[in-house]
Amino acid sequence: MNEQAIRFEVVAREGEARSGRLMTRRGVVETPVFMPVGTAGTVKGTRFEALESEELDARIILGNTYHLWLRPGTEVIRECGGLHKFIGWPRSLLTDSGGFQVWSLGALRKITEEGTEFRSHVDGGLRFLSPEVSMEVQAALGSDIVMVFDECAPGEATHEVARTSMELTSRWASRSRAAFDNLQRAGADTGRVEARDGLTGAQALFGIVQGASHLDLRRESLERTVEIGFDGYAIGGLSVGEEKPVMYACIEEIAPRMPAASPRYLMGVGTPEDLIEAVARGVDMFDCVLPTRNGRTGQAFTSKGKLNIKNARYGSDTRPLDEACVCSVCRRHSRAYLRHLYQAGEMLASILMTHHNLAFFLDTMRRVRQSIRSGDFTRFRREFLEGVSSGVE
Ligand SMILES: [Zn+2]
Repeated sequence: MNEQAIRFEVVAREGEARSGRLMTRRGVVETPVFMPVGTAGTVKGTRFEALESEELDARIILGNTYHLWLRPGTEVIRECGGLHKFIGWPRSLLTDSGGFQVWSLGALRKITEEGTEFRSHVDGGLRFLSPEVSMEVQAALGSDIVMVFDECAPGEATHEVARTSMELTSRWASRSRAAFDNLQRAGADTGRVEARDGLTGAQALFGIVQGASHLDLRRESLERTVEIGFDGYAIGGLSVGEEKPVMYACIEEIAPRMPAASPRYLMGVGTPEDLIEAVARGVDMFDCVLPTRNGRTGQAFTSKGKLNIKNARYGSDTRPLDEACVCSVCRRHSRAYLRHLYQAGEMLASILMTHHNLAFFLDTMRRVRQSIRSGDFTRFRREFLEGVSSGVE
């Protein structure tokens, strides 16, 4: 067991919402936190200097095991000294297990007790991912937080289907735990750092709660996951086609029941509204591709809701994307210019829109933390939600 791979302390609470400090072997992460997604070793459209800058100040980003395993491959990253060195990112890194990506392949994959067989989207070759392989790849990547290999069920899965899936996830969690512990003992962690600040210097492992939209299965999954024992706990398999109220009900049921002394991570969710609603229900960590993906397709998140830069009415609009935003893009550029770049197919359009979106997400979380710490979260939540539903003029 590596009980001290990370340390987490809650410093303030308001209702179920909490703000804390997560200490990983690479530094302090203030929570609630949003983790930008670095799918294939890059947070698309962004330089790492920008992520590290005072303006964005991302403390932790996410890497995708599935994508990095297929390309450039585990060996290349191991030879380059792990993912941090390979991509040039000194701060904390969390890697997912690849479970969600292979599940998303749908008909292209076959799930058995042993693991998942699928065809690579890169070269069409047959590949096999299991708890043991996922732990091995994540040890080679040397991420600071490793996720167990899980199986996702569709949001509308029947009780029977969701139970079978949840039970498989539970068995895979035990196998992930055992394989992870063996690898840590064998020193397979490529990103290993010196023990300091009361931390072991080893990787941390998070468990994942599944069970689709069935609350009894979710509760059982949580019990089983806590019984195995992890450094942190995640809610997986949400935002996969279920209705919003169903998602919120599930978070409300599970998050407050998760171990209070450990970080709680809601995987792959969501819009700024979703983040605020999940914080109010007790979640500490988030990741989502929305700010980067939507940035590339011309959509900005603003304090008044979404803005689509393709819209002709912004053709000569001299205002910034968001008049309430102080990011470097909003300080310098107009909607008219950004629209022109987008229409002309200039890569700078994606870069600037992505930057603003990341600034908006990260700044929103900064304000969430401040409001919880000053006992003002309830008001912040109400005003924020009113703002984003008011509509961009
Ligand atoms: Zn901005």
